[in-house]
Amino acid sequence: MGNTVLTRGAAASQNTKNGVKKSADIYAIALDGPSGAGKSTVAKLVAKTLNITYLDTGALYRTLGYVCLKNGVNVNDGGAVEQCIKDVGVNIVYHDGVQSVIADGEDVSSKIRTPEVSMAASAVSAIPFVRQKLLGLQRGIAEQSSVILDGRDIGTVVLPNAEYKFFLTASADERARRRFDELTAKGQAVTYEAVLSDVITRDRNDSTRAIAPLKRAADAMEIMSDDMTAQEVADYICAAVNGD
Ligand code: C5P
Repeated sequence: MGNTVLTRGAAASQNTKNGVKKSADIYAIALDGPSGAGKSTVAKLVAKTLNITYLDTGALYRTLGYVCLKNGVNVNDGGAVEQCIKDVGVNIVYHDGVQSVIADGEDVSSKIRTPEVSMAASAVSAIPFVRQKLLGLQRGIAEQSSVILDGRDIGTVVLPNAEYKFFLTASADERARRRFDELTAKGQAVTYEAVLSDVITRDRNDSTRAIAPLKRAADAMEIMSDDMTAQEVADYICAAVNGD
């Protein structure tokens, strides 16, 4: 595990008694961290192993960013964004455990993974109306079954009482390298320098915004993943949830 820093938070042990998880209860895992830390890959592995629902909350912000871009709205203009998205119906559907996001009947899942939509998501996510609009949807999913939600403010705002909280991070260079590999594997023409610059800009936007900034919850366990594979991180989280 190299130089991994693991900081055990208080909440992690609340749902276990004598090392045995309360089996009748549903539970929530909050997985927060900066962009490119590998949250979605880890969350998918954890969801599969524990047989729980995975919600990628970034996809929701991406969806509203995409809708604004599609309508030619300036994503930094709070009033214009609110007008544009206020009546947009956002829904999550699962097919064989894979999440799709539907905006006003359109499946946008394959359209929200571009660098332009990443930056638009980062901009609109700083607008209080946008965060409020998506809050109920996220909490509603967490009420129905055991879940792992990945995002920026899950442990601090969306699910402050989540039974398990983790903050997954890695250096900006490592995160940019991973994102670059992911985008080029999909055939997107990007340079490493541009991806690194996007990572740094989004980190700044996400951690300095006034509302629900990216922040480790006081009771979250921090995982520094530079020297860990996604599988190692997922195994660590599953072991913590299982009380191992
Ligand atoms: O996680 P992902 O990179 O897909 O998120 C896209 C953007 O959505 C982030 O840069 C962040 O600004 C925003 N976001 C957020 N709160 C979340 C999830 C994502 O503000 N819970």
